[in-house]
Amino acid sequence: MCESLPADPYLAFLDELVTARLLIPSGVRGVYGRGGDFEHVVEQFERLVTREGRPEKAEVMRFPPLLNRAHYAKINHIHNFPDLMGSVDTFTGNEADHRAMIDTFQTGGDWTRSLVPAETMLVPAACYPMFPTATGTLGEAGRTVDLRTFVFRHEPSDDPARMQIFRQREYVRLGTADQALDHRDAWLRRGKALLESLGLPVEAVVANDPFFGRGGRLAKATQREQTLKYELVVPICSTEKPTAVSSTNYHLDYFGKAFDILLPDGSPAHSACIGFGLERIALALFKHHGLSLERWPREIRERLELD
Ligand code: ZN
Repeated sequence: MCESLPADPYLAFLDELVTARLLIPSGVRGVYGRGGDFEHVVEQFERLVTREGRPEKAEVMRFPPLLNRAHYAKINHIHNFPDLMGSVDTFTGNEADHRAMIDTFQTGGDWTRSLVPAETMLVPAACYPMFPTATGTLGEAGRTVDLRTFVFRHEPSDDPARMQIFRQREYVRLGTADQALDHRDAWLRRGKALLESLGLPVEAVVANDPFFGRGGRLAKATQREQTLKYELVVPICSTEKPTAVSSTNYHLDYFGKAFDILLPDGSPAHSACIGFGLERIALALFKHHGLSLERWPREIRERLELD
């Protein structure tokens, strides 16, 4: 008798998702098209979030997945997450430069050396494009903003839940430290209850961002000590390493300082956000309720108002 090696649980789930036409491979790890049922779940989950968020009377803002490069330069992303960034390049040369690039391209050389950076970076988090638009003095009530966009993180992986480009739905609060923390705490409870109502085993855990390099160790420790980040985690491919499907972040007055967002007393505003990883939530639902929507438990189908 020969024992077969245990299959990689990430590749095995990815294979099931592709076979069920929920994800459509692109040839690049972590970049997929989405099938109809997958999109349906994402859309219906978002509607649920919108209903939960209605009492907030949040301003709706939708940004494309591109960030002004000058705004990118005002945040510490280049120091903290250089390995995750995405920069947009283009060609701005003359005809002679073009001919040279085509020659290089046709002989299999590195034609990308002919490119130059465009005015934009890919958006690393859904709330980033909003902060630079909030420069100025807030009213006493602060502001709450509802955001959604595709975000990019260069981390090619066989884990279907670790995509390079995926959607985040966020509610961001700008205001005093208390307003930001109240928002964070309320949404952490609300987000957990929302996911539990969909039959997902959710846990809230203190977390840290994947700060780069040796210098990043201190940043990770500080973020955890100050409990600035919580994640709502659900097992998808692994019970030992559950997947963060949602996270809350308290930014202190970091964005207030970076973009001159001020409180009525002239001090920098604080901010906090909750982000729902829409693809990860859909994947968690498919993992826990099966790949066929028709066979999902009736209460889950009703809760999501699935067709
Ligand atoms: Zn955010």
